[in-house]
Formats: sequence, C-alpha cells, structure tokens
Amino acid sequence: MSSLEIRNLHVSTGDKEIVKGVTLTINTGEVHAVMGPNGTGKSTMAKAIAGHPDYTITGGDVILDGKSMLDMESDERARAGIFLAFQYPSEIPGVSIANFMRAAVQARMSEGEEIDASGFYKRLYQKMDLLKIDRKFTSRSVNEGFSGGEKKRSEILQMAMLEPRFALMDETDSGLDIDALRVVSDGVNHLRGPNLGILLITHYQRLLGYIVPDFVHVMIDGCIVKSGDRSLALELEARGYDWVKKEFASA
Ligand code: ADP
Ligand code: MG
Repeated sequence: MSSLEIRNLHVSTGDKEIVKGVTLTINTGEVHAVMGPNGTGKSTMAKAIAGHPDYTITGGDVILDGKSMLDMESDERARAGIFLAFQYPSEIPGVSIANFMRAAVQARMSEGEEIDASGFYKRLYQKMDLLKIDRKFTSRSVNEGFSGGEKKRSEILQMAMLEPRFALMDETDSGLDIDALRVVSDGVNHLRGPNLGILLITHYQRLLGYIVPDFVHVMIDGCIVKSGDRSLALELEARGYDWVKKEFASA
C-alpha cells in the first residue's frame, strides 16, 4: 500500500495565500472527493501537489510513502506516480492519440530505457477495451475537434496507460455534459482498485452519484472545514454550502 500525505499545506500564488493549512491522507485503494464553492483553492491545492511551478508551497509538506516530495520537480513527481488530470485540455494538431500516449509513457521511463512498441500497442488496446474505447480513436489528433466526452476519454486513457499510484482529478468549472460525465465516472470506476488512490475534485454533487467516494471533504477559503463519508455529499446536495460555512465561522 502507498500513501500520499498532505500535511498542513500552505500554498501561495504571487503574494496571495490560497491554501491555508490542509491536512489529508490518501491511501491507495481509496477515493477521496474534495468539494467546495468556486475560488476556494481546490485546483491550487491539486496543482501544488503535482509541482506546478506557478504555485509556491510556503508551509507544510507533501509526503509520498514517508518521503517529502517538495524538492522534486513536477516531472519527478509524475515519475514517482502522481498524475494530475483534467488541467490542460489543449489541442495538439497533427499528433495522434497513439503517439501522444507513447510519448507520455516514454517520458515516465528512466533515462536510457526504451519503449517496446509491440508491448505498448498491446497494452494500449487492452486499456481501450477495458474502457470501451473504439480503436479508431487512436488515430485522431489530440483534442482537435473533440467533444467534451472525447476529451475526457483521452484523459482517462492517458491515466490508464500511465498507471499512477495517485490520481488528482480536477473537474474544472467548465460544464460537463452527460456524455463526458459518463466517460469520467465509468473510467474512474474501471480504474479504481487497490493500487490507485484518487483525489477527485468537483463541485458537481451529481458526479458523486456515479463515483461513490470513500471520503468527502469540504474546502472553504483554503481550508478543509468538514470531512465525512458519501452521506456528506448528499447533505451538500440537499443543503448547499452555506450551513458548512456558518458552522466553520462559528467554530
Ligand atoms: P477552485 O479550484 O476552488 O475554484 P482555485 O484554486 O482555482 O479555486 O482558485 C483559488 C483562488 O486563487 C482564486 O481567487 C483564484 O483567482 C486564485 N488563483 C488561482 N490561480 C492563480 C494564479 N495562477 N494567479 C493568481 N491567482 C490565482
Ligand atoms: Mg478549480
């Protein structure tokens, strides 16, 4: 079992403190949902954990299996098994999904190690079968003219190919149509298992009807103010966030 421990994490961008002391441990095999209103620092937290250069960790620690990752660059963190999904849905015209996946897998290998082409394709097709993705998909250019659902499909496939130990999935505020929602939830449900820990950031309670989290955390103003099991997500759906804010303010 692996663990990703976020310990009293403080994150700033520019001179503004955004994440103000988050403590959270994720073990492989667990799905943690982080919910909260817009602008409370959820994406900032995920990007800081992944080592995004725009975000400075000013206090606390991020610890993978007992070892601090703070002195690791983002690519080293990725090689250590941290995967950040859904942040960069950019188009790469002329680069096929298959070649993009190959480059992504190659980039995670150690220096001097070469990808084995036939093994790569065998694994790619296995993952595509698992995720019920049509083989024709591999020849499409990355994100070019993709629907929301197709973008999600390529991100989930990338995650399946990279086999991270911890996936940080950030459902950004752009609307997910029902197709994309299904792709994400089916993909996560296929990939979840004893060797993967998932931090699923969303403000869609709806998503958690499809992906049943083991733990739910509410983030407000840079702090996790409440944690619980999936019933907390249902309560938030019914009551919104204001009661949690009030509880937090009066504590
Ligand atoms: P959430 O994901 O919870 O909606 P974010 O982490 O995206 O929240 O943003 C939290 C706050 O940090 C917002 O006020 C946002 O404007 C600010 N912020 C995030 N990234 C940057 C950045 N790169 N530069 C300046 N401000 C930022
Ligand atoms: Mg966000």
